[in-house]
Amino acid sequence: MKTLFSSIIALLFTVSLLGQQPTNATAKPAPKITYIRAGRLFDGTGDKVRENMVIAVQDERIQAVNPAGSVSIPAGATVIDLSHATVLPGLIDCHTHLGSRADHYDEIHYFKDTPFDSAFAAVVNARKTLEAGFTSVRDVGSLPFLAVDLRNSINEGFIPGPRVVASGPGISITGGHGDINNFSPQTRVSMFPDERNFQIADGVDQVRHVVRAQVKYGVDVIKILATGGVLSKGDSPGAPQFSFEELKVAAEEAHMAGRKIAAHAHGTQGIKNAILAGIDSIEHASLIDDEGIRLAKEHGTYLVMDIYNDDYILGKAIEFGLAQENVEKEKMVGRLQRQNFQKAVQAGAKMAFGTDAGVYPHGDNARQFYYMVKFGMTPPQAIRAATTAAADLIGRSKDVGSIEPGKYADIIAVSADPLEDVRALEHVGFVMKGGTVYKDAITAGPKLP
Ligand SMILES: [Zn+2]
Repeated sequence: MKTLFSSIIALLFTVSLLGQQPTNATAKPAPKITYIRAGRLFDGTGDKVRENMVIAVQDERIQAVNPAGSVSIPAGATVIDLSHATVLPGLIDCHTHLGSRADHYDEIHYFKDTPFDSAFAAVVNARKTLEAGFTSVRDVGSLPFLAVDLRNSINEGFIPGPRVVASGPGISITGGHGDINNFSPQTRVSMFPDERNFQIADGVDQVRHVVRAQVKYGVDVIKILATGGVLSKGDSPGAPQFSFEELKVAAEEAHMAGRKIAAHAHGTQGIKNAILAGIDSIEHASLIDDEGIRLAKEHGTYLVMDIYNDDYILGKAIEFGLAQENVEKEKMVGRLQRQNFQKAVQAGAKMAFGTDAGVYPHGDNARQFYYMVKFGMTPPQAIRAATTAAADLIGRSKDVGSIEPGKYADIIAVSADPLEDVRALEHVGFVMKGGTVYKDAITAGPKLP
């Protein structure tokens, strides 16, 4: 005991000495500048690609972006040679569930899995997501408050992962998409007593309380479930959940706390209720009609339409025990969602990239680009939905979403040309986040362990 105690004292002493060093140091260490040669650069600010550019990265941010001919790189400087690749801003997925696994469709997992299982999954999924080129994500629904802790651990540098904009559990009505329905009334799964479950709310007062409680525990964004869902039981995706007044209170409380709010909404009326209530983004938006699209445009509401995962839900998910009820619901909304995506694109509604990763395996996020182009977007438009537009939706435009001086050096590269075939983004070969390289299969340069 004594030895341990004295080692702690010695350690504290050393730490305090280390802590003093910067104050009496006269010479500040020279800033570390890394130069990235970009053969083709799509910076996210428009549709254009510029050739032979050099990006200077100082510490964690972009210092300058200039034509190669006008930059003299000092001898001995660190150079990352992506001159045979297309360089883009780190991608952003606005709808993920990093704590979820796409092989846990059997209902038994409601009862067998512990919060620790979700946390282990999140550590693995965060890394896969980052290595797939997604340097920021919005996580819109997990156990309380897994996404907050995950965000903090990643920000500390303790585990690799994207920047996380964290929500708590999606707020649901009793019997709604976020509740566990159709079991015996004796069945309960809860980490907290009912009044502290952070998820189920009925009436404006409870909605107010749950939003405030989630803010208290550090969420960046509120997620509310404004209609039934596909992967829940006993509810219809088309049916509104929460009254207009409840949604309005949720939006007011979120905005008062400086948070944005996202609404899960498949059904036509629920989508309109959420837009009129002042919610910032409509997730899924599967059954949106022309009036809904018009309202979204009028209110500047983003649509986040997850049009890839239908393939997985109607394929692999069935093998992993997805119930017949859910299969039928997906068949009903999946095809319509893709058609309505096309209508929304044509109408010029604000669209941000979001995939519902966790419903399908994390790391496959970029597979959605193909469908976004197939259903009406140009490749640059689809990429901007996952960069500049997504950054705007998550409220981080000052820091991420484009390759411009002052932003975080969140930079990816692909060998093929994604503007010709957007599927190139399914094979991201280089990933830098905040000036640190997390993946490099292109230059075979230094990698993190
Ligand atoms: Zn979701």
